[in-house]
Amino acid sequence: MKPFYIDYPQEKIDEHQHAYRCLHCKIPTTIIFGLLENHAEHCDYRIHESKWTQLAVKRRPYKTHFDEPHVDEVD
Ligand SMILES: [Zn+2]
Repeated sequence: MKPFYIDYPQEKIDEHQHAYRCLHCKIPTTIIFGLLENHAEHCDYRIHESKWTQLAVKRRPYKTHFDEPHVDEVD
């Protein structure tokens, strides 16, 4: 899981000189602050990124196999 989500598509907010917002949910970057949960719930970027996060969490259970050597193979 990424600590900060800053690779979302952004667009300039016309009314503000140096302000940007998420292209999908139109929430300003100053409010999102690099956090996925600060995007709107319907935001395409948030939905896309949460899918990957869930996939990463859903790992297969790790299984170990012990190959026991046959020690009683003596003539
Ligand atoms: Zn967004």
